[in-house]
Amino acid sequence: MENIGYYNGTFAPMEQLMIPALDRGVYFGDGVYEALRVERHRFFALKEHLSRFRASLDFLRIPFAMTDEALTEILQEAASRVDSDSQQLYFQVTRGTSTRTHSFPEGVEPNLMILSRAVPLADLVEYRRVVVLPDTRWGHCNIKSLNLIPGVLAAQIAKERGCSEAVFHREGVVSECSSSNLLMLKGGVLRTAPADERILPGVTRGHFLMLAQQLNIPVDETAFSLEEMMAADELMITSTSAHGLPVGFVDDKPVCGRDKTLLRRLQMVYREFFWDSVGKD
Ligand code: PMP
Repeated sequence: MENIGYYNGTFAPMEQLMIPALDRGVYFGDGVYEALRVERHRFFALKEHLSRFRASLDFLRIPFAMTDEALTEILQEAASRVDSDSQQLYFQVTRGTSTRTHSFPEGVEPNLMILSRAVPLADLVEYRRVVVLPDTRWGHCNIKSLNLIPGVLAAQIAKERGCSEAVFHREGVVSECSSSNLLMLKGGVLRTAPADERILPGVTRGHFLMLAQQLNIPVDETAFSLEEMMAADELMITSTSAHGLPVGFVDDKPVCGRDKTLLRRLQMVYREFFWDSVGKD
């Protein structure tokens, strides 16, 4: 099949998937999600995604009883129904289905939804344009909750201005992008905001930092300012499908392109690690 949808035991093509209007995800966004790569029907970094997923569930106090093993089996079944060798698999769990009352309803079971479709890995060569916007999100950006309106609006503004991403800042301090992390190279050091409540601890970000350390490239998890960003040697956008996309313009001003060697090295090392993890054959 071209894509797949799943909801509480039922598989259907995404476009035909039905969910109840009283799923709390619909009217409160009361749930959490994850998105990961599936290459040749094998998961990349499933363990890391499951661990972040459990942390998000704990924060929202959603008692999702399914074990990782049982969940993995369903995710695998979903991925196997999609023909593509290069998928992005999304799954979400909401608190349950109930009439609309803010406090937690009693006696409901969490709902599991899965969506998977072909999504190619982003090109690593082309320098991207980004727009800078204030970070108006809540104080728990480390939680992958379904409430993504500031990110959605920022991504739309970026699109309207011909940009690939929006870089968020809080009072001049860069946090991350609307749906990715931002890493900077300056003087041979790989720098990015610390994994606190102001950013989502990206799985890709974590792997870039780990690989850099293995290569003896100094790593600095200290947030940088907008001025420092404009003076970066290179800037890289990272997420599940964006393996270190270079940034060449910020708000239409040319930036970066000053350490292409280290940029390419990190991109290549990451890609090798990625393909090794899913199996090259
Ligand atoms: N930050 C935000 C706000 C995101 O939505 C994402 C992607 N889900 C990321 C960072 C990157 O995370 P990952 O590398 O785990 O895809």
